[in-house]
Amino acid sequence: CGIVGYIGQKQAYPILIKGLKRLEYRGYDSAGVGLINEYHKLNVYKAKGKVLNLEELTTQKDVTGCIGIAHTRWATHGEPCQANAHPHVSQSGNLALVHNGIIENYALLREQLQQKGYTFKSSTDTEVLVQLIDYIQTSSHIDLLDAIRIALHRVIGAYAIAVIDRRQPGRILAARKSSPLIIGVGSDEFFLASDATPIVEYTDKVVYLQDNEIAVLEPGKALKVVNLENELQL
Ligand code: GLU
Repeated sequence: CGIVGYIGQKQAYPILIKGLKRLEYRGYDSAGVGLINEYHKLNVYKAKGKVLNLEELTTQKDVTGCIGIAHTRWATHGEPCQANAHPHVSQSGNLALVHNGIIENYALLREQLQQKGYTFKSSTDTEVLVQLIDYIQTSSHIDLLDAIRIALHRVIGAYAIAVIDRRQPGRILAARKSSPLIIGVGSDEFFLASDATPIVEYTDKVVYLQDNEIAVLEPGKALKVVNLENELQL
């Protein structure tokens, strides 16, 4: 039900947790966070229940990293439990994805991916997104942005998503259709959230992503926004 993201020079974890708490008013049944540490290791933690449970789970764990995505879930497909909480990690172990919304054609996509050898660890509609992007990326050796564009062409439904790739810890990709997503532009850092409340304390430069747009958040570069046809929107 809520997404938060951070990439920049600061440690992401405290910003993400604080952001999740700001979004708690929206209601949720579980929470999770995914971070890439300085050794390109992807660490994902998720817990049923409150953000506080997630914090308890991560004590003594590696929560370092200047890039991360976080999520509060309001289950639509699959019971509220740890396995169904976001982020979801791709079979290759490279990608982590958070999603708000509903993927209507997930059953068909899951079947097709299973035929390609993909196994699923959750009963969510969301997991097909990360596995589909992974499949497109690994089978055609294309850039993550292109893989996301192609995947979203095949998806029917509503979504706000954020994706990170442990091989490329310098960027977050985000996209939306019918679910809100806002980007905060700082100096050499970017914030991402479902509404402005987690962002306002850091920057007053916000960009409201439009339907069918994909944003590339890459510190050191200007915010890049393209549509599903890869035409520059900004
Ligand atoms: N449909 C997804 C799920 O059930 C996302 C729900 C949400 O927006 O939090 O996991």
